[in-house]
Amino acid sequence: MGLQVYINGTYFDKDDAKISVYDHGLLYGDGVFEGIRSYGGKAFRLEEHLDRLWDSARAIWLEIPLTKEAMTDAVNETLARNKIDDGYVRLVVTRGAGTLGLDPNRTSNPQVIIIADRISLYPEEFYDQGLELVTASTIRNHPAALSPRIKSLNYLNNILAKIEGLQAGCVEALMLNTKGEVAECTGDNIFVVRDGVLRTPPTDAGILEGITRDVVIELAGEAELPVREVALTRHDVYVANECFLTGSAAEVVPVVKVDNRVIGSGEPGPITRDLIARFRQLTRS
Ligand code: PMP
Repeated sequence: MGLQVYINGTYFDKDDAKISVYDHGLLYGDGVFEGIRSYGGKAFRLEEHLDRLWDSARAIWLEIPLTKEAMTDAVNETLARNKIDDGYVRLVVTRGAGTLGLDPNRTSNPQVIIIADRISLYPEEFYDQGLELVTASTIRNHPAALSPRIKSLNYLNNILAKIEGLQAGCVEALMLNTKGEVAECTGDNIFVVRDGVLRTPPTDAGILEGITRDVVIELAGEAELPVREVALTRHDVYVANECFLTGSAAEVVPVVKVDNRVIGSGEPGPITRDLIARFRQLTRS
């Protein structure tokens, strides 16, 4: 049996897992989602992901037609059915099928989709040698237009920046906010290290409040490393001793070059390596 996808409480074979072309998730990006890792068959930080999903939904006036408890059970069931140990869960809630107009009141029921699949990870050499970034000319959405705190199905802002990165030969791109400050990358949060202090942009820099970011802040606490959530400029990145990204898929990945400038020694630094080891210890033990 192939991959089983959950849609509104029913499991479908991957090829038969379909929703309407009238769904406002497709027509307008009207919906929310989460990307969650599983380790050893268990969804990592599921509660935090569900809290963020519910917050995103609330922010767009979308009512998720399930309790968090029922969603937890459905995620676990989808992982178990598909025998996914170390994998990835994509949770999607769309506005549902409606008319061709924008009006969300004319949509039917929200569609809840859960996909549990294997994950294609970054190659190990990225963790050993570090990534290179470029700054995208596409800035992060203005929070008063579409808050980056909402993990909505409208990811074009990030996709356009991602294309700029890819065209420059980079798998990730740095995004600035409307003030010209560092916000985050297209699918990852950013940290810099200088003189033993970790710094990362605060929520009001216009970022998605990453769950891996929170995990790394906790791990840094355990390692007795100070962490400051402060506005950062590109200058702060260029003169950092170390830089790394965090995200559910990427976990903790070092950055060694930004806009062609070498960061620190040009190799993943000791604090980054320590946090990678701590993250792996936490998720693989
Ligand atoms: N920023 C953006 C724009 C993202 O899409 C993601 C990944 N979903 C992140 C940051 C990292 O968040 P998390 O650690 O919760 O995966």
